[in-house]
Amino acid sequence: MEFQTFITENEPAIRLSAFLGIFALMALWEVAAPRRARLLPRAVRWTNNITLVVLNTILLRLLFPAAAVGVAAFAASRGWGVFHLWEVPWWLAVVAGVLLMDFAIWVQHVMFHAIPALWRIHRMHHADLDFDLTTGARFHPIEIILSMVIKFGVILLLGVPVVAVVLFEVLLNATAMFNHSNARMPTAVDRVVRLLVVTPDMHRVHHSVEGDETNSNFGFNFPWWDRLLGTYRAQPRAGHEGMTIGIHNIRDVRTCDYLPGMLALPFRGPVGNYAINGRFKGEA
Ligand SMILES: [Zn+2]
Ligand SMILES: [Zn+2]
Repeated sequence: MEFQTFITENEPAIRLSAFLGIFALMALWEVAAPRRARLLPRAVRWTNNITLVVLNTILLRLLFPAAAVGVAAFAASRGWGVFHLWEVPWWLAVVAGVLLMDFAIWVQHVMFHAIPALWRIHRMHHADLDFDLTTGARFHPIEIILSMVIKFGVILLLGVPVVAVVLFEVLLNATAMFNHSNARMPTAVDRVVRLLVVTPDMHRVHHSVEGDETNSNFGFNFPWWDRLLGTYRAQPRAGHEGMTIGIHNIRDVRTCDYLPGMLALPFRGPVGNYAINGRFKGEA
């Protein structure tokens, strides 16, 4: 319990230090061994993407001061959720909690691609014309809020332990920066690493302009859901250096990589043909 109290009280500090540490590491890797040439200067994208992250963090703290850990602590104090009802051993609840939360965001990600109104919100993540570690943290504030509410629901339903929630959030944050990074990894190493965790080459396929590639590799942490459920695609057709990143009908820099344009993206223009009922129209 002491351990849980420590984790709950220091959760923001734990997450911030993990974020900064991994950010620095991945930034160095991108500089030392870049995978692709950049289209835009790093300064433009980083300024806008990181400002959005700061905005989202403030928004979440204001709306949900207790955050996901608070919800987990509440569920534990009331004995709510499947893990409490079934008296699942703590260690098993931690492992299952992390796995099932990851599966839940995989399903959520698939739904954000399939349902046209949700795709409008999620396409801001995809509109980035380049793909680097800051892409991993850029999500529209509406998506951030919706994700948080869904996460609360999963935590309450399962009774996910506090430690599992913190572990999951740190893990997700770290893997998101890792698998969005413009870092080169030898193919042989990638092949082994992607059995355990989603690699940059695996997730980059998901950021291709090609609809069938965009609708593949939905995993953020673990690659298993895509492999098990049939949405796995190993490589992009045009190769990692030749492929085009982004959305095919949204290519204007002001819209894609400057904050005002990014924030307006859910409300502008047609929904396009990525979402489920737009696929067979053969138009952009
Ligand atoms: Zn996506
Ligand atoms: Zn992504």
